[in-house]
Amino acid sequence: MESNKEKSMIRGGQFIVTETNPQDVFTPEDFSDEQKMMRESVQEFVDKEIVPHKERFEKKDYALTEEVMRKAGEMGFLGVAVPEEYDGLGMGFVSTMLVCDYISGATGSIATAFGAHTGIGTMPITLYGTEEQKKKYVPKLATGEWFGAYCLTEPGAGSDANSGKTKAELTADGKHYKINGQKMWISNAGFCSVFVVFARLEDDKNITGFIVENDPSNGISMGEEEHKLGIHASSTRQVFFNDCMVPVENMLAGRGEGFKIAMNALNVGRIKLAAACLDAQRRVITLATQYANDREQFNTPIAKFGAIRKKLAEMATNAYVGESASYRAAKDIENRIHKRQEDGATFAESELKGVEEFAIECSILKVAVSEDIQSCSDEGIQIYGGMGFSADAPMEAAWRDARISRIYEGTNEINRMLAVGMLVKKAMKGHVNLLEPAMAVGNELTSIPSFDTPDFSEPLSEEMDMIKKLKKVFLMVAGSAVQKFGPALEEHQQLLLAASDILIEIYMAESAILRTQKNIARTSVEAQKEQIAMSKFYLYNAVKIIQNRAEEGISGFAEGDEQRMMLMGLKRFTKYVNLPNIIELRNIIADKVTGENKYPFTMS
Ligand SMILES: Cc1cc2nc3c(=O)[nH]c(=O)nc-3n(C[C@H](O)[C@H](O)[C@H](O)COP(=O)(O)OP(=O)(O)OC[C@H]3O[C@@H](n4cnc5c(N)ncnc54)[C@H](O)[C@@H]3O)c2cc1C
Repeated sequence: MESNKEKSMIRGGQFIVTETNPQDVFTPEDFSDEQKMMRESVQEFVDKEIVPHKERFEKKDYALTEEVMRKAGEMGFLGVAVPEEYDGLGMGFVSTMLVCDYISGATGSIATAFGAHTGIGTMPITLYGTEEQKKKYVPKLATGEWFGAYCLTEPGAGSDANSGKTKAELTADGKHYKINGQKMWISNAGFCSVFVVFARLEDDKNITGFIVENDPSNGISMGEEEHKLGIHASSTRQVFFNDCMVPVENMLAGRGEGFKIAMNALNVGRIKLAAACLDAQRRVITLATQYANDREQFNTPIAKFGAIRKKLAEMATNAYVGESASYRAAKDIENRIHKRQEDGATFAESELKGVEEFAIECSILKVAVSEDIQSCSDEGIQIYGGMGFSADAPMEAAWRDARISRIYEGTNEINRMLAVGMLVKKAMKGHVNLLEPAMAVGNELTSIPSFDTPDFSEPLSEEMDMIKKLKKVFLMVAGSAVQKFGPALEEHQQLLLAASDILIEIYMAESAILRTQKNIARTSVEAQKEQIAMSKFYLYNAVKIIQNRAEEGISGFAEGDEQRMMLMGLKRFTKYVNLPNIIELRNIIADKVTGENKYPFTMS
């Protein structure tokens, strides 16, 4: 049963049908002193232990990755999300995002090792383990005495994660499970002490999780390190289980619970992956800006050329928007977790339900921010010109490292479809009321539009109005698609992808606008000049994407009068009263970035 307070709390996915008050969103400018100190100590750690050794990471120095991870453990960074009773720091969700963000920026090798260990390697035991399992394994993992890895993927089971062939069989004496099978692409495999392994008992519908200590004398062997495009010093191997004996007490949660564990671990992993793509963007932007200010062609620093300024403005805008949305969602999750704990739920139950509630936002962020770091590093290469293509300059590795984020923790295709699929499911369960707003949009389509000129004198008021209209676009497209296809909608993937892009752009654009509005209220319009420009600029691009994707969707399922009516609605819902001057907005942003010679929007 939900309490009244819980009912009044923001629910995952609800952003699409409600207006959010800027005062109700958390922004990076709201970090506490403790969080800022944590950020500084992580930044110092990265600048001392990682940045000077970039070359060694690129030359596949796996031992260095292990060493840095060990030191991160000594600093407490591996235990931020772990409760104090298991030797962690027991910090809140926002703080764990913050550490993940800042530790991940300098090389994807550490980002992956950190994410695999602290997320999917440690959290399944912390959240699903019995008291004995937690006492035995979690303190070692939280302090970096041991490292964890997560064995879900198999040669024949990737996106279809529940289809694995690895078998677990209870031995005749009932004391062990005997595990046989092959796992693939296992991060941290080369130096981990414990695996979370998913295997199937008999012909169970769902897989089961097991905690398996890495003991080569117990039927565990490994393939060679994989040769990868990027994240060169992240250990990735195949792991073979050949009559590997696992004590029965090492089953994680119950029989058949493995798929649920795997999916919930991925929810947490997804939002943290978004965080892990943030500081990488800040660093690329800072390096690209410094290069552009130094590099002269035609007797002019290239940073003065409009073509380069356009890129820097776009890169900075995406990073700002990614920060805004990631920390907004992180705090919403943290609030949910606190609420559940106040109501008497355990840490594990609260954390699981809190993150699950915002699984839609986790998928949105995973997709959006992983694509932002890709385009950011790509433009970073372009700004460096020929040097960008050289392995001696930093952009090449940043670009290669960025690529994996679109693949693991569920590919971006899968996450796009999940985001919309989960929203539709929530609507069916009555957890998010999509039906009434969708019907209201339907009525609006057939009514005469208002010809009043709205008052947009307040800063960003036209933008907030546009967000309201864009939500109508989503409801129009997704609502009609659900009506048309019902449960068969999941077979119409291209439609789902279009709806998902609309959903993603709305969440990201709205988050940036809300952050800027909140900061205008506590500073001034002048102090937020560039942030206002970024919010407007991002929204403008979002509107273009949404126009395009909505048109594609509408043309895919509507014909004749219905199609014409929806296209007219689309036009109405994406129309600016005052089209912003995009070139001027980019110049405002570029002036700030090039003037400060770095990504300048991190509050100190
Ligand atoms: C460097 C690296 C580290 C990794 N670390 C780990 C780890 O630590 N532990 C672990 O368990 N796994 C790990 N993985 C595995 C990773 O999670 C999978 O690669 C990923 O889930 C995709 O699975 P797949 O490679 O089998 O691709 P596939 O599932 O074969 O997908 C191939 C393509 O088809 C698309 N596709 C698949 N199914 C559908 C569908 N239903 N609808 C539409 N499109 C679809 C995908 O989006 C993708 O574009 C890692 C992978 C890499 C490369």
